[in-house]
Amino acid sequence: MEAADMGTDLQQVLISREEIESRLDDMAERIDADYAGEDLLLVGVLKGAVYVMADLSRRLRRSAPMDWMAVSSYGSGTKSSGVVRILKDLDTDLTGRHVLIVEDIIDSGLTLSWLLGNLSSRGAASVEIATLLRKPEAMKVEVDVKYVGFDIPNEFVVGYGLDYAEQYRNLPFIGLLKPEVYEN
Ligand code: 5GP
Ligand code: MG
Ligand code: MG
Repeated sequence: MEAADMGTDLQQVLISREEIESRLDDMAERIDADYAGEDLLLVGVLKGAVYVMADLSRRLRRSAPMDWMAVSSYGSGTKSSGVVRILKDLDTDLTGRHVLIVEDIIDSGLTLSWLLGNLSSRGAASVEIATLLRKPEAMKVEVDVKYVGFDIPNEFVVGYGLDYAEQYRNLPFIGLLKPEVYEN
């Protein structure tokens, strides 16, 4: 495979780095207020949520431990397989914990809806969701999301943790790829 060129493969910047950072400021402020005096465990979903986790958690004014899960729902392409599998489980016992799932994007909602059920069944005191992006038009199941960064159109986006075939995660903003990138 040839090296992906982030500059020439990009069609459009959808959400700039500055917009993301300013929105994360607001989300962190709300999380600080909502969980004041409570213990809080951040659960990131690999790999897409690494940037959101890093940039959101460092904006909190309190200490919050983090743990990671890896699940598979998409293959290397752009379509949902509808099947969720745990590739890496948490190291933390959730009994009595207030859990905040940190996600990059909610598309169909199938992954998060499954994850909510899975984590709740482990005896957590509460399980809520913070996601940077949500595609309201694409959602196939109702998922109650407490913190949403941006609602976006039903288009495939990359950057800020989101990949296409494992490329483009390290773009510092959310962007759209040129159609020919998918055709190759
Ligand atoms: P869902 O189960 O809500 O349909 O999607 C779950 C996962 O699919 C997301 O966490 C993300 O990894 C991937 N995904 C969904 N929409 C997009 C998108 O627009 N771009 C990228 N790169 N990944 C997406
Ligand atoms: Mg994700
Ligand atoms: Mg992916």
